[in-house]
Amino acid sequence: MKEMLKEWDKEYIWHPFTQMKEYSKEDVVIIEEGKGVILKDIDGNEYIDGVSSLWTNVHGHRKKELDEALKNQIDKIAHSTLLGISNVPAVSLAKRLVEITPYGLEKVFYSDSGATAVEIAIKMAFQYQKQAKDGDPKKEKFISLKNAYHGDTIGAVSVGGIDLFHSIYKPLLFKTYQAEAPYCYRCAFKKEYPSCNMECVASLEEVMHKYHQQVTAFIIEPLVQGAAGIIVQPPGYLKRVRELCTKYNILMIADEVAVGFGKTGKMFACEHEDISPDIMALGKGITGGYMPLAATLTTEKIYEAFLGEYHELRTFYHGHTYTGNPLACSVAIANLELFEKEKVIDTLKPKIKHLEGLLKEFWELKHVGDIRQCGFMVGIELVKDRETKEPYPLEKRIGYKVILEARKHGLIIRPLGDVIVLMPPLSITLDQLTRLCEVTYFSIKKITQGEN
Ligand SMILES: *Cc1c(COP(=O)(O)O)cnc(C)c1O
Repeated sequence: MKEMLKEWDKEYIWHPFTQMKEYSKEDVVIIEEGKGVILKDIDGNEYIDGVSSLWTNVHGHRKKELDEALKNQIDKIAHSTLLGISNVPAVSLAKRLVEITPYGLEKVFYSDSGATAVEIAIKMAFQYQKQAKDGDPKKEKFISLKNAYHGDTIGAVSVGGIDLFHSIYKPLLFKTYQAEAPYCYRCAFKKEYPSCNMECVASLEEVMHKYHQQVTAFIIEPLVQGAAGIIVQPPGYLKRVRELCTKYNILMIADEVAVGFGKTGKMFACEHEDISPDIMALGKGITGGYMPLAATLTTEKIYEAFLGEYHELRTFYHGHTYTGNPLACSVAIANLELFEKEKVIDTLKPKIKHLEGLLKEFWELKHVGDIRQCGFMVGIELVKDRETKEPYPLEKRIGYKVILEARKHGLIIRPLGDVIVLMPPLSITLDQLTRLCEVTYFSIKKITQGEN
């Protein structure tokens, strides 16, 4: 049966973000069970879930309270629609989300993935300008950042900025004004933080100054550009961005799909700089990593622009069939309850400190160019030459080889190019963190220095 599953996997599944020609030659890992931060495959091998099942898992797998929330809900109802009627968990969750998210976000629009949460944000911001009393119908464009990632649907890709993923789709996309993003290790302005004057802010302001009359919104992954390679923004950047958006009357969309729910060491990344966006997209960790659910939150002011008599056609004509799914919402409520009950954010502090200490040792490896950490989000950038920061050639597949090596030693991680990403579930113990870093260290060493 095991061998059949492996064969059928290769025969029938087209895996996302995967070169299937390469994959078809590999030994396939098929996960069958999980417990805490450990994944177990059909061959009985155990692995640390080093990227929390693609940045989603929070309290570990098979967490009792989350399992029970799902079981309890399924005894009531699995799904009913949110189009024109409502359901119990969707209501309770919306209230909780409004209570815990930054000030001013008052309304919750549900969907089922990070990309759809972003599409909704985009359409909301667009339609707002057409309908608001003080809106400006000429404001139809968006400003986005280089290296941004907001999901893979066409609107989300339009505001994305990772050429490797996005350039082929260009003819399909709407045009945005793209600003330079902070990437201190490879600063576009050849400056060094903190002696720089945050030229990245100045260049964003230039774009805003030039185009603000046509621009409805600016979209950003606050604090960390995740898929770009865990690129951490310098302190103060986000606050300046908020000020600029206000100054130029541009809505601020914060895509907290990756950074939300504790990943940065606070519940939401925006809290680090004490700011509130006009629209916020949430996904990934919202259900503790259990179910596909996402939410777009916005202000009373934006919401009001959509109110009117039916024939005025101000309605937000958007929805997904499984919007506000009761099973997903019930597990999301249990997730938030666990954050409170187990004081998860407080328990993170010593873990983040421990991780920071472990990461320092990676500087001993001569092909480690940069180590970036923001809370539980880590990116280790591997380079061919540390002095010149010259990357490895693409065909070397260095990052990929490192994660295959790590897999042999009981660790599942996934690279972003030659950036090795670590983002374990928040429930990981100090010892497991040590193990995670040890395996990563030796895998990098073996692949880049050819020794153990
Ligand atoms: C993962 C991610 C998305 C897309 O979420 P999906 O659920 O995969 O559609 C959007 N924005 C950011 C910042 C992400 O990291």
